[in-house]
Amino acid sequence: MSLVLYNTLKRAKEPFTPLRPDHVGMYVCGPTVYDLAHIGNARPVIVFDVLYRLLKRRYPRVTYVRNITDVDDKINAAAKANNEPIAALTKRTTDQFHADIAALNALPPDVEPRATEHIGEMIALIQILIERNHAYVAGRRRGLHVLFSVESDPAYGKLSNRSRDEMIAGARVEVAPYKKDPADFVLWKPSSPDLPGWDSPWGRGRPGWHIECSAMSKKHLGQTIDIHGGGVDLVFPHHENEVAQSECAHGQTFARYWVHNGFLTVNGEKMSKSLGNFITIRDALKLAPGEVIRAFMLGTHYRQPIDWTEEALKRARARLDRWYRALARATPAAPGAGEIEHNWEREFLLALDDDLNTPHALSVLDEQASCVLGAGSADATRFAATLRANAYLLGLLTKDAGQWFRQGAANDGLGESEIERLIAERNDARQRKDFAEADRIRKQLSDQGVVLEDKAGATTWRRTG
Ligand code: AMP
Ligand code: ZN
Repeated sequence: MSLVLYNTLKRAKEPFTPLRPDHVGMYVCGPTVYDLAHIGNARPVIVFDVLYRLLKRRYPRVTYVRNITDVDDKINAAAKANNEPIAALTKRTTDQFHADIAALNALPPDVEPRATEHIGEMIALIQILIERNHAYVAGRRRGLHVLFSVESDPAYGKLSNRSRDEMIAGARVEVAPYKKDPADFVLWKPSSPDLPGWDSPWGRGRPGWHIECSAMSKKHLGQTIDIHGGGVDLVFPHHENEVAQSECAHGQTFARYWVHNGFLTVNGEKMSKSLGNFITIRDALKLAPGEVIRAFMLGTHYRQPIDWTEEALKRARARLDRWYRALARATPAAPGAGEIEHNWEREFLLALDDDLNTPHALSVLDEQASCVLGAGSADATRFAATLRANAYLLGLLTKDAGQWFRQGAANDGLGESEIERLIAERNDARQRKDFAEADRIRKQLSDQGVVLEDKAGATTWRRTG
């Protein structure tokens, strides 16, 4: 068994072998922190979290680097619009991002470099590019720009496989008088006193977007990295430009496997801030718990588009409910990875090894749940442990079953204490032999998705989802 990944560069699936047999390096482009992240931004977080978990299972050491872009013109504009200092905006938004994706059970990356903390590394890289004649300084009345010369790189375009005209149209390039070629892109640009800026050999200025990932991946993972990931919208121009910068500077392969997730869409259109068709992770978490959102996303192969609908979320919730019902048959149902039963582990890992075939992996969990639900009580406990251990690799079934059925999304109406209060009222009514009132309370709860079970003198409850 070995992991196979679709490599965008080769336009084919390839067996994955790391450069160093015992240490995998993975770099994923992270968020630009100017506003709450939307659920489309959560897709790469979830996809690469699963890849990270799988790599950790397969290799002794994995270094996962996901950056924070905290210098960007969108940030400058948002800070101005909010009348908020830039540093306060980026810190607040980064904290919100962390809280949101923790609720999606995403493991933190090993390194989370911030662009503003790597300006020195970016300047050094730009200097190498100038020395090697891959970049040039262009004069302008208001300050100096440094541009990457696309013409100097015969391999430019190899990742996105685009023609020159397509590249120019796709990058929506600014045709500026200081550019030798309209396809050249900015490595460094001048900053006016009201904008963030750093001293450099080209005066006070700030970096272009692409150079940060070349500089930060070099610092934290070296000149050649095993896996580079991000959403498919990043292939061009961002990743194309990263390869050009890094390979022209170092003369060696930048990233060996390029992995890109497809879009999360709304009515078939990419979810994005600019189209205004987005729902924030925060709001999505009001509709469903993080594990439901994960199960929804992982129900489609990562390279396929996936349409956001509440019906699909409901189906994901029903699926998880069934798995948790299976876990509830185990005694005791302790959270955490259990012992793995050989066959199920093998089938499950085979699915993930096949270019992260999570839809297949989820169907293995369905079968495992059926096994638990149909087993005698001794076997149920053993099978449930295997189910939980496999699900852990997808960041699912991390809760205890009782906790799962008690938790509701924030807008499910009834909070836990309200439910407990109504149950206590119903018990009082039953003691008074006011069965009409007891039945009314039971119905009120069931109308709001809470089912009561009376067993051995105690009442337990769960949500029906
Ligand atoms: P951004 O902050 O826009 O640079 O996006 C951060 C990450 O989210 C990048 O890897 C993007 O490719 C990814 N992304 C943005 N929108 C979507 C979407 N609708 N579906 C899937 N991935 C997305
Ligand atoms: Zn990047």
